[in-house]
Amino acid sequence: MHSFQPLSEHDPFACSAHDHRRCQHDALAAAEDACRREGVRLTPIRKRVLELVWASHQPVGAYALLEQLAVDGHRPAPPTVYRALEFLLEQGLVHRIDSLNAFVGCTHPGERHRSLFLICRACGRAQELAAAPIEQVITTEAQRHGFALEKLTLEAVGLCHSCSGS
Ligand SMILES: [Zn+2]
Ligand SMILES: [Zn+2]
Ligand SMILES: [Zn+2]
Repeated sequence: MHSFQPLSEHDPFACSAHDHRRCQHDALAAAEDACRREGVRLTPIRKRVLELVWASHQPVGAYALLEQLAVDGHRPAPPTVYRALEFLLEQGLVHRIDSLNAFVGCTHPGERHRSLFLICRACGRAQELAAAPIEQVITTEAQRHGFALEKLTLEAVGLCHSCSGS
């Protein structure tokens, strides 16, 4: 169903030719479009949290987000940040990386999907890939065994090509 090719400019491991400012800018513009289409509001706090999540391709935890918001000059209460993250997750604008208890911006918002993440253990960057083919295999196997699948986490840890020097 949902098979997508992440746009090349969203390949965080492409050491050259990765203009992250543009990447962040495009992501925020896409998020605004997605919210407009859904008729939901990207309030200033939601937008700021999303912008902070998109500060890099390294998944960021809620605590780090709180600290960065404090740098902005106003320290929001933790529930405010959690609610903003909840909203961004619901709208498919960010993904949660369970193994890191952290969040990363979605590279193709507005499309419901599960993703496979390649997480570099050296630089911490995570790359989002289409999970559909893997998801299908797992779903079929679970059904075959009468297993009611509730949660599927697809996170792979290793070294990206810039960190492995290959
Ligand atoms: Zn980028
Ligand atoms: Zn995504
Ligand atoms: Zn790396």
